[in-house]
Amino acid sequence: MKILVCGGAGYIGSHMVRYLLEQGHEAVVLDNLSTGHAASVPEGLLETADLLVPSSLEAVFARHRFDGVIHFCARSLVGESVAQPYSYYENNVVGTLNLLQAMQKAGVSRLVFSSTAAVFGNPDTSLIDEEHPARPINPYGASKLMVERVLADAGPAYGLRSVALRYFNAAGADPQGDIGESHQPETHLIPNVLRAALGQGGGLKVFGSDYPTRDGTCVRDYVHVNDLASAHLLALQYMGSQEGAHTFNLGNGQGFTVLEVIEASRRITRHAIDFEQVARRPGDPAILVASSEKARRLLGWRPQFTDIGEIIETAWRWHQSQAY
Ligand code: UDP
Repeated sequence: MKILVCGGAGYIGSHMVRYLLEQGHEAVVLDNLSTGHAASVPEGLLETADLLVPSSLEAVFARHRFDGVIHFCARSLVGESVAQPYSYYENNVVGTLNLLQAMQKAGVSRLVFSSTAAVFGNPDTSLIDEEHPARPINPYGASKLMVERVLADAGPAYGLRSVALRYFNAAGADPQGDIGESHQPETHLIPNVLRAALGQGGGLKVFGSDYPTRDGTCVRDYVHVNDLASAHLLALQYMGSQEGAHTFNLGNGQGFTVLEVIEASRRITRHAIDFEQVARRPGDPAILVASSEKARRLLGWRPQFTDIGEIIETAWRWHQSQAY
């Protein structure tokens, strides 16, 4: 298959591109390089274009004939979305609408969409499956849920086939060590913990100590970025026989608190990791853990990195190779 990877210069997208090539597929990367890194894209695959500039998108679709699109382009920081909602709705909703219209004009009818556990808000159950009501509590989650709704409507109206994958917390790096997670500024937990282990990053903060969890810090389900990549390819294959819009939750089904992630990182890095406990970060739900039974059953998804230590270890290898 020849696949357009929108946002393929970013963290999850660059792992996706590598996985597609390894599996014998062709990939083209569309990215505006606002947060992605051209150096993470293999030679000759980058098309610099912007979802908010429809003519730039149409030019890419005119140059290639794609069998499907995997769409990672988004603003994705919960705290920032609370402070800058217009920017989140514009980039994530309007940008995706532009992409869908460009796909329609070009006759491309299969899409894998990056959705998020943030569509669930504060969940009612400890394991969240696809039947759980979606009630986002921040603009980031709301913007992703709006797109899921658009996809559900586009199936019957236009024959679009789509799979929305709701990632829980993407983590880790390619074990080969030459691509990984690098945001500027970095807001994610595991990169910040590992930077603190290296004595970099200006002081680790733990947001909130009074959540209703076993140690008062938030619980998250960390899933390896290469396992996310394999789910996307399975989703593309699934659409070969399935019409309409589908959603799947992707996680390991096990939650870890912020303090447990720090403890595991101390063990792996053998560095003391100091931190300061500060107030809650706006928009953070207490507990998000996935049931991925549906992805296992219908996509045949089998995550390879099921141990938090192993996931942190791959991230640690990457962080040690980076000069901040
Ligand atoms: N977190 C933290 N310190 C940091 C970054 C994150 O305490 O420097 C917490 C954050 O409040 C959340 C969890 O770690 O409870 C995971 O946050 P992250 O930003 O990695 O992912 P999110 O769950 O927001 O997608």
